Amino acid sequence: MRQRNVMSDFVLKTSNLSYQYPKGSRLSFQDLLLSDQQHTLVLGDSGSGKSTLLNLIAGFSSPTSGEVIINGQNLYALSGSELDKFRAQHLGFIFQEAHLLRNLTVSENIKLAQSLAGLSVDADAVKSLLEKLQLGGFENRKPNELSRGQVQRVAIARALINKPSLLVADEPTAALDDKNTFLVVELLKELAKDQGSTLLISTHDKRLKDEFTNNYILAAQ
Ligand code: ADP
Ligand code: MG
Repeated sequence: MRQRNVMSDFVLKTSNLSYQYPKGSRLSFQDLLLSDQQHTLVLGDSGSGKSTLLNLIAGFSSPTSGEVIINGQNLYALSGSELDKFRAQHLGFIFQEAHLLRNLTVSENIKLAQSLAGLSVDADAVKSLLEKLQLGGFENRKPNELSRGQVQRVAIARALINKPSLLVADEPTAALDDKNTFLVVELLKELAKDQGSTLLISTHDKRLKDEFTNNYILAAQ
């Protein structure tokens, strides 16, 4: 019988996470446990700690206490360069603003994510993902030649191209109108299934509550 790897039963597990800003108060977070395809919405008003929590989970700032475990790996037990490599291979991120490199074309921005993860550039995979995001024909445009909704869809392609186990998205729909907000959420769910990624999405937008079966509500701190 094949032995089950107990450590990797969950995509994400946090325990006793807290973060102290040098001049701020201490933020504490309830534990999160996500299994594969258990997409979760982190809901909270502005200032409730959404970005702080997602930055801890994405390995951008180390917690004052507690642990973040992704695919059985304790993130903060890794050295700086190991963490960079682990992050590039297992995690995808989408931010409120896309932060595309403006001198690179749409397809170059996405291929860069493959190179940075130490993977070989797969032009066919890039093309097919762009087509799914209704960006076929826009491959050679620069970010300033796209609409806001298109730019955000390029950011989604970049975040998902390496088939990350966990896709962390901090208010990915904040800059979008109603129509694009729901379109982006539907696309994220559809692509997460194709790419084998589990979604962890933060928002202050209570309208998105019914779009996800799992809601993680941030308590007022
Ligand atoms: P959200 O993303 O939900 O709007 P944040 O995680 O950005 O919330 O902020 C949570 C709390 O931490 C807020 O009270 C905010 O003022 C505080 N905070 C955020 N960044 C800093 C910082 N660099 N220094 C001190 N306090 C901060
Ligand atoms: Mg925020």
